[in-house]
Amino acid sequence: MKKILLIQTGGTIAMDMSEGQRPTLNPKKWTELMYEAIPELSKIAQIKMERLFFEDSSDINKKHWGKLAGFICDKYEDYDGFVILHGTDTMAYTASALSFALQGLDKPVILTGSQVPMSNIRSDARRNLVNAIEMATLPLPEVAICFNDFVYRGNRATKMSIGDFDAFASPNFPPLAEIGLNIEMRNHIRAASNKLEVATDFSDQAFLLKIYPNLNPGFLEQINFGDMRALIIEAFGSGNFPIRGDQNLLPFFKKCIQNDILLIITSQAAYDAVNLSNYESGRKAQELGANSAKDMTTEATLTKIMYLLAKYDSNKKVSTQFNCNLVGEVTE
Ligand code: ASP
Repeated sequence: MKKILLIQTGGTIAMDMSEGQRPTLNPKKWTELMYEAIPELSKIAQIKMERLFFEDSSDINKKHWGKLAGFICDKYEDYDGFVILHGTDTMAYTASALSFALQGLDKPVILTGSQVPMSNIRSDARRNLVNAIEMATLPLPEVAICFNDFVYRGNRATKMSIGDFDAFASPNFPPLAEIGLNIEMRNHIRAASNKLEVATDFSDQAFLLKIYPNLNPGFLEQINFGDMRALIIEAFGSGNFPIRGDQNLLPFFKKCIQNDILLIITSQAAYDAVNLSNYESGRKAQELGANSAKDMTTEATLTKIMYLLAKYDSNKKVSTQFNCNLVGEVTE
């Protein structure tokens, strides 16, 4: 029987919703519930449970990502697969971050959670948990999100719904597996590698700016570049932003380049890829030296940059690596 390490990090799945109470994070109650569930789960795998931290996922940051990557690395030889229980709000960020932090996997690292606490009778938690554990026993050497009967590549997934059980999607890459009567594994799952390379450092020297109509460039003038090394611009459509009149953003972007800040353009549209050659603003950004995030999610773009900034002192090296497909996060 396969050995699976179940790592608890918090989130709605672990919340207590006893009658008359607002949902709260309750590690004790969670442990009781899990031990109730374990007899069923033990038909699928031999499971060991560890509580690494216990947070609403809004409070998860680079330290938690590093801790998770380091923990999995330490236990790597002892288990056949890993399941991480995590809040849904930032699950796609953690999954993306871990995909860069744990390169060269030969076993699954599966994240799951739920929209309704496990303690609630109408919860999606049990189904997601059983599915995730089963997926962790299969040949799936990737960091993936298993949710609502779908398995997505972690760095391609994004949270789409606050209330629906079908909370995630992978707009630019088909699911890795679908779970129905049978489990259908797709043939675009990455090949296993036996050279695990682990990173536990991420940088916070990246800033994400969402473009919107009437964005006042005066506000941007107040930005203190300080330690900033990269600016990710979440632009419109194929990578567009205002370039006329008072709202022209090009002077600000020029200033960023002069301050040796790496410019990266991603899109607010989830489907398809940024193409900076399509329109005048994109072409102007390209002339300034901006990089395109192509069809990467914002989560993957941001965590890839955070991973690369921590790894390399030179922005030139960061930019070269950013434009490579590291772990299937971008379509070549
Ligand atoms: N706020 C929760 C979290 O992300 C939401 C969830 O788990 O669904 O931790």
